[in-house]
Amino acid sequence: MAGDNTPTRRALLTGLAALPVAATAAAVEPKKRKPAKPKVQHVDVAIIGAGVFGAWTAWHLLRAGKTVRLFDAYGAGHARASSGGESRVIRMGYGADTIYSEMARESLAYWKALSDTASAPIFHNTGVLWFAPQGDAYTAQSLAWLQANRVGHEHGDVRWLQDKYRQMQFYQGETGILETETGALIAGRGVQEVIADAQIEVERVVMPAPLFSKRIKKHSLPDGGTADHLVYAAGPWLAELFPQQLMGKIVATRQEVYHFGAPQGDTRFAPPELPVWADFNNGRIVYGIPDLEGAGFKIAIDVHGPVIDPDTMERQPGPAGIAEARAYLTRRFPGLASAPLIGARVCQYENSSNGDYLIDRFPGQERVWLVGGGSGHGFKNGPAVGKRVAAHILDAKLAVEPRFSFATKGTVAARTVF
Ligand SMILES: Cc1cc2nc3c(=O)[nH]c(=O)nc-3n(C[C@H](O)[C@H](O)[C@H](O)COP(=O)(O)OP(=O)(O)OC[C@H]3O[C@@H](n4cnc5c(N)ncnc54)[C@H](O)[C@@H]3O)c2cc1C
Repeated sequence: MAGDNTPTRRALLTGLAALPVAATAAAVEPKKRKPAKPKVQHVDVAIIGAGVFGAWTAWHLLRAGKTVRLFDAYGAGHARASSGGESRVIRMGYGADTIYSEMARESLAYWKALSDTASAPIFHNTGVLWFAPQGDAYTAQSLAWLQANRVGHEHGDVRWLQDKYRQMQFYQGETGILETETGALIAGRGVQEVIADAQIEVERVVMPAPLFSKRIKKHSLPDGGTADHLVYAAGPWLAELFPQQLMGKIVATRQEVYHFGAPQGDTRFAPPELPVWADFNNGRIVYGIPDLEGAGFKIAIDVHGPVIDPDTMERQPGPAGIAEARAYLTRRFPGLASAPLIGARVCQYENSSNGDYLIDRFPGQERVWLVGGGSGHGFKNGPAVGKRVAAHILDAKLAVEPRFSFATKGTVAARTVF
């Protein structure tokens, strides 16, 4: 309206409303600014990837007094990262792969400490229930480790399982272990909390693979800065960055998780009535997380999906996966047989050939590290992985664990670690 001096919402938002016309015109004229000076700084370590591995590596290095820069193409714990999304299982039972049990035990202490000071919990001590047919070797080995290490647990046969969890249906001959000290972690927010606790800024930059030359004393960063060490914790993007070395060795596969909504007022599928659970399910492992933070009952099938590109994959769940999850609910959680699907997430595992992590130098390079291969079980162990990477950087003589070495990474998928 002519003569109406009421400022528009846009003017209010841009802060121009109260200025006289001439001043307004001056204000909108582009300022001739000097180009921003590149941040030319030298750091001990530049980390590429602010997922759970990169974030905890930064955390440990900073605690050890190192200077660090942390880069991520999309930001910390984002929707396309393997560390993004809502929740992850933290358990200690790993069958005969006790190296991961030890890492989980060590990591749990860090997660708990972080959770204690966070504004909302990062760790939920729901317990973790694992069940399988009687005589299952993985169950027996996990139980032996829990017993030998005096880690809190209960175990029993099908009657024990059925009495304890009446909202579930168990079958003849099944046996189970309830880990009482573990549970679930909050994923994307958890990573952001690690970074906040480390007091480091994530720089949103797409980092290239390094230039390798014997004459290079310091690694150059895109803005002119330099770093003594580079840590590539790029998750499912590792093979894309280093195709010659890692193509076929770190493979990203599509994974879907579903959230179903229990009837209003039905508390049987939330803690404390239901723990995190995992079913051996004839080798086609199915696991779930009880309703945390109102996200609903989460269920996932731990079988590798098709190979994907983490940048371009469409993240819409498919009908076949939803149908399989629902059929499983009907058999195992009858009270949820007709529960509505209230959420879903399409993510990716970044698999090594057998499921072992990769924590080793880039071949032939003393100060470039490759960290990844979480293979669907890496989140819980983020603190221990970060601690190990930091230890290698602090002590160049520290031997690389053979299971995490580049040399042991093959190209034929044959998963042995679950
Ligand atoms: C559906 C699902 C369920 C899972 N369940 C569990 C579970 O219950 N328990 C468990 O312990 N683990 C679980 N995992 C595995 C675990 O989440 C992953 O192993 C772990 O999060 C991997 O972390 P990361 O830091 O290696 O990778 P990411 O989280 O993917 O981080 C890598 C980061 O690198 C960045 N990046 C890549 N390239 C570049 C570049 N060129 N420049 C800058 N930045 C770059 C990316 O943007 C990304 O943020 C699950 C994973 C999925 C997908």
